[in-house]
Amino acid sequence: SIPLGYFGGIGLASKHGILFKGANFIDAITEVDTVMMDKTGTLTEGVFEVQEIKPIGLSEEELLGYAAGLEQYSSHPIAKAILQKNTANLEGVKVEQLEEIAGHGLKALVNGKEVLVGNFKLLDKYKVAFEDHFVEQSGSIVAVAVDGIFIGQLLISDAIKPQSVKTIKALQKLNIPTTMLTGDRQATAKHIASELGIATFYADLLPQDKIEQVELAKKTGKKVAFMGDGLNDAPVITLANVGLAMGGLGSDAAIETADIVIQNDNPYQIVNAIKIGKITKSVVW
Ligand code: ADP
Ligand code: MG
Repeated sequence: SIPLGYFGGIGLASKHGILFKGANFIDAITEVDTVMMDKTGTLTEGVFEVQEIKPIGLSEEELLGYAAGLEQYSSHPIAKAILQKNTANLEGVKVEQLEEIAGHGLKALVNGKEVLVGNFKLLDKYKVAFEDHFVEQSGSIVAVAVDGIFIGQLLISDAIKPQSVKTIKALQKLNIPTTMLTGDRQATAKHIASELGIATFYADLLPQDKIEQVELAKKTGKKVAFMGDGLNDAPVITLANVGLAMGGLGSDAAIETADIVIQNDNPYQIVNAIKIGKITKSVVW
């Protein structure tokens, strides 16, 4: 049977917007010695804005229109930014065979032409040649190709959450190092990691690469907590010793598979969860 104090701990946590899905996770969270986090939507707001537009052989409006034609069907935070900036009328546009390619972006037939909208990994996958015009800049890149031709790119950026620096510092103080795992590109990951004081990060990861990192850490005997928000994060949230999901902006899949749900999307709640876990264990009778 579960000692009564655990229910007190779960109740205290839920008052603070931290939902433990079982008393066993009170124990598990206190044993965590390694934290892995997603970037977009977890350490950053997950609210993107189009910063720069580089069309090649067409107007900015036309480039945005191509991107928006596909993004109108996506729930990725990047899609929202593009739709906000778009001025093209999408009503007469015929989009068929839309595919969302995890960690890459989107592919569809638009008025009979094959359109790709996503990162450069997506263009590589379909053997489309490109030149990156935003190499040094921090931000996510959305590249667009039509019938195998690169027609330009957008630079989209996302702000760091105000509580993220404090979270990494507090975890360090508890002797728990944080690793950032992201599908975003190297330049952006490096910029964000250095702003946050995160020493170890991996960029350009596909969903299966995130799984591999968590598996590797577990194999070396680490007790891993993974905190994320996205559809792609559901498998790693399941795999980690303790999986935490952002309950606000987070995807349904992430929330469903999580052991602990953070209601207000504040990353510092992982620190509060550990502290509540420790207090609970110290008073269990
Ligand atoms: P993360 O949350 O770490 O950024 P995701 O798996 O959500 O990881 O996304 C990885 C990358 O895939 C994004 O940074 C982006 O480059 C690309 N991507 C995914 N979905 C889309 C989309 N709908 N439109 C454009 N790019 C996308
Ligand atoms: Mg994410």
